[in-house]
Amino acid sequence: MLEESKYYFNKAADVLNLPVLGRKILTTPFRMVKVEIVSDADNGQFHHHLGFRVQHDNSRGPMKGGLRYHPSVDADEAEALASLMTWKTAVVNIPYGGAKGGINCDPEQLSEKELHDITRTFVGHIKEVIGPNLDIPAPDMNTNSKIMGWIMDEYSKHYGFSPGVVTGKPLHLFGSDGREEATGRGVTIALEHALKDKDMSWEGLRVAFQGFGNVGSHAAKLMAQNGAKIVAVGDHKGGVSNPEGLDIPALMKYVKENRTVEGFDGGDAFKSDEVLTWDCDVLVPAALGGVLTKENANDVAAKIIVEAANGPTTPEADEIFHKKDVLVIPDILANAGGVTVSYFEWAQNIQQFRWELDRINDELYKTISRAYMSVAKTAKSNNVDFRTAAFVLGIGRVAKATMARTHVSTSRFDEFG
Ligand code: GLU
Repeated sequence: MLEESKYYFNKAADVLNLPVLGRKILTTPFRMVKVEIVSDADNGQFHHHLGFRVQHDNSRGPMKGGLRYHPSVDADEAEALASLMTWKTAVVNIPYGGAKGGINCDPEQLSEKELHDITRTFVGHIKEVIGPNLDIPAPDMNTNSKIMGWIMDEYSKHYGFSPGVVTGKPLHLFGSDGREEATGRGVTIALEHALKDKDMSWEGLRVAFQGFGNVGSHAAKLMAQNGAKIVAVGDHKGGVSNPEGLDIPALMKYVKENRTVEGFDGGDAFKSDEVLTWDCDVLVPAALGGVLTKENANDVAAKIIVEAANGPTTPEADEIFHKKDVLVIPDILANAGGVTVSYFEWAQNIQQFRWELDRINDELYKTISRAYMSVAKTAKSNNVDFRTAAFVLGIGRVAKATMARTHVSTSRFDEFG
């Protein structure tokens, strides 16, 4: 994933004409932390894990990004994802830098008590480098509001009441209305603009989802409410399809109980990886990175791909989509709704003031819409695809902030506002 993120960075850096040293400054992480986590196991033994936090850039504000608990977590993955957060917060123009981290573990093998202990031990080891004005973690793959609540509690034990140290918290622990569905809502808003651009409409739009976790399920629900038909959903265990459109609220209920879509009786079963090449208008990868490759890209039927996951498309696949005239709405735009409402949550925390849900959804709509328009404009003026345009926009903003902090002239970046 690190190679891929550097490839996309360089493609945009070429458009921006960034010098070699500028590229080095913008790609090298500010700080990388790797910690050992030894904690009690239920069987009286110990668990041993490695935890990571990569802080990529803070020129535009405190660093921001999720924590994932997954066997793929390592320094390289966290570095790639941290850099994506830097460009993402810049694309939606919120006052943050980028970070990412997590714990290399398989949460399915851990009890809640073990997860709790591992989380608190991890916070104990990274507490000096996170904070409301320094680096603010949030949920990501396999982490949720409950875990964010433990993080706030552990951090607050050392530094006093600090709800602003982490976002995506439970509602009754200074979380924000609308945060849970925010990423899925942002994905839906981005698609709404793409449909307008392509002269397409929600009515009867056939959408396929890979992944039905927090992001995928909420996006599916909102798209279905808009009139789309969710014709196929695949996850890590299996898939379920229905040409008339799946009953999404019923599927959400089923997944809550069974932790997979497999076995849902409101449609036909299929093998999960078939979902990527499903006969549909829109494909939403909402699970792992690197799933759209040169092996399957030519068989993708969708005309629009909305990247709800981080890094789902390899550069080779991206090239193929570009040639096939498939519109790819890149992750750093499409899934930026999550970090945007994280920003609203943090703003509420530090102001000790609560916003109504209407205000949150309204500001989210405006933020994603503005970002979409800016990316579309950048794509047009530079004659590049949406991903390159989003990187150009994000990198340009970060470069300008970096330069403005020094005595070096910023003039050469001014044309990329
Ligand atoms: N993990 C989410 C992302 O990749 C949200 C990050 C945040 O809210 O800070 O954008």
